[in-house]
Amino acid sequence: MAPNRPSPWFGAFLFFLTLIAAVQALTPAPFETHRCPVCRHSFEPLLAGSGTQTGMRLDFRPLGPIATPWPIPDCPKCHNVWFPSETTPLVSRELQTVAKTVRSTSYVRLASAPSYHRLAVTSEALKKPARELAMLWLAAGWQWEGTTNRLQERACRNQCTAWLDRHLDSKSVRNGAPDFEAVLLRADLFRRAGDFDNATAWLNRWAPQPAFHSGLAPRIIARQRLLIAARILNPEPLEDPSMRRPGTPLKARPLKLAPPAGH
Ligand SMILES: [Zn+2]
Repeated sequence: MAPNRPSPWFGAFLFFLTLIAAVQALTPAPFETHRCPVCRHSFEPLLAGSGTQTGMRLDFRPLGPIATPWPIPDCPKCHNVWFPSETTPLVSRELQTVAKTVRSTSYVRLASAPSYHRLAVTSEALKKPARELAMLWLAAGWQWEGTTNRLQERACRNQCTAWLDRHLDSKSVRNGAPDFEAVLLRADLFRRAGDFDNATAWLNRWAPQPAFHSGLAPRIIARQRLLIAARILNPEPLEDPSMRRPGTPLKARPLKLAPPAGH
């Protein structure tokens, strides 16, 4: 790999965003009928057809006139949710696991919870990879942000953190190239939790590594350091609009969105 090129992880980009892209690319025409794989109920889900991303937050949430997280089919009968872009249908054993989870008392109580919260629950039951689970909980937290239930938003963020830590601590990640997005997201989670000392220590640990010297990483790290110094806990955009100067609009880097590997 040539120097100063983003890490391979950057090409794959944040798993969640790749899921968004995959769904976007494969989103059927509106009003197409979907059949719930659990209860076989047929319905027409409200799905988005397109969107425009003009920026992103430091937790990689896209900004602009775009649905985030991307809408997914949400069965009105059993409340199962799933990615329509899944190219590999669930095998019967997996389907049994999802069905059992969806019919459990704890899941039924989640009927009115955001769709990605429920998807994270069924994905945990399926023992999906830690990184994928972290991103689903992240998206669930985004959805709770739109409600008054801050406790749930924080709980989802904590779940995201737990799975992300498990991912970052896995042997394959520790021995491989730095997982660019996971590392930068972890810094944001430290800051959002008010753990400013660990946020700084985390950035000091990773910032010297070459993988973080190109692409968006230096800007993300610099912005994160400013927010940490100011003890700011809120979700924040990569760049503060007030920093923009007239006549020099920010050049938004187009996000490379590829289908998720292995899906
Ligand atoms: Zn259903």
